[in-house]
Amino acid sequence: MDAYRTHVEINLGAIRRNAEAIKTFTGKRLIAVVKADAYGHGVTSVTEALQGIADMFAVATVEEGIKLRQAGVREPILVLFSSLPNQASLIIEHGLVPTISDWEFANRLNAVASNTISVHVNINTGMNRYGVHWTEAAQLLHRLKTLDRLTVEGLFTHLATADEADKSYVFAQIERFSSVLKKISNSGRWVHAANSAATLAIREAYFDAVRPGLSLYGIYPASERPITLEPALTWKARIGWIGSLSEGEGVSYGLTYKAPHQTRVAMVQVGYGDGYPRALSNVGEVLIGGVRRSIIGRVCMDVSVVRLEPTDNVSVGDAAVLIGKQGDAEITVDELAARAGTISYEILTQIGIRVPRIFKHASANGKT
Ligand SMILES: *Cc1c(COP(=O)(O)O)cnc(C)c1O
Repeated sequence: MDAYRTHVEINLGAIRRNAEAIKTFTGKRLIAVVKADAYGHGVTSVTEALQGIADMFAVATVEEGIKLRQAGVREPILVLFSSLPNQASLIIEHGLVPTISDWEFANRLNAVASNTISVHVNINTGMNRYGVHWTEAAQLLHRLKTLDRLTVEGLFTHLATADEADKSYVFAQIERFSSVLKKISNSGRWVHAANSAATLAIREAYFDAVRPGLSLYGIYPASERPITLEPALTWKARIGWIGSLSEGEGVSYGLTYKAPHQTRVAMVQVGYGDGYPRALSNVGEVLIGGVRRSIIGRVCMDVSVVRLEPTDNVSVGDAAVLIGKQGDAEITVDELAARAGTISYEILTQIGIRVPRIFKHASANGKT
């Protein structure tokens, strides 16, 4: 690991324990959301770590689903946003479970399939980005029965405000969803609605299975914390240069930081080309030697600069922690996101392909 200018360490045991804690807490089947490379954590290793715990995996795209099949995943793989007609044959070829929201795509799948194909139907109850409108869902489901190769194995909806303190819109969505369920027969189906926020806070949204993403990786989407989750990701970068600024001298592009007096500085080998947000220019902090040190000047594509104290005992090659713990200090994803003016989801999924993922396997902790 000493050889990487920047890398992330993924604690697969933490992901496994988070998933177990969620299953125990909810008592429901688990559809583990592993889209966007498992929120930047590395989807192949994450799905391996969740074997025997996740009852189904969910991805966003057909390509993500194919990647999992090619990696040997045998569990059902739900594609949350499948809808392109010319992907029907890929879905069938790779044994993926597509999401249906209209008759045309369902009909197309039925025409291409040679055996029975399981699908889930997304019912739009107010998120208003995808799905069959709840007032038209029963009619579509009725019509789908005429497609002889299609089996509606699941019904789901997605909540727009589960992470907010005011849950009234969530309950309105659940009510609409339930009104559809009442009109049809659901025996043997997977009925699901709960993202991480609802999984941690809204039992009424559970139905048969929960569908969390973020919380699997140890991050809370909202203020409710009924169970303990362990963050799985640590992001480090190495110091590549140590220098000093004399009084009044500026640093990095645009010289936006001016040294008020003689100042020691260190260049840290991470930049926006690695997904470290440029918005952290002059506002970010990193951990060096177990203490917080400030980013000064603009974050560049490949490197950033931090201000050191005269007494800091640091050398080129030392690790700075961008996300995670060092000694007694910690920078959480949430803190970094808040400083950058975004959300934890975006920080995690933007960690670039230039940043190697190093896995600490679940078995290293005595867990299998
Ligand atoms: C991303 C996504 C989830 C998971 O959301 P989290 O907030 O990460 O738990 C669940 N369902 C759908 C449809 C999604 O797009």
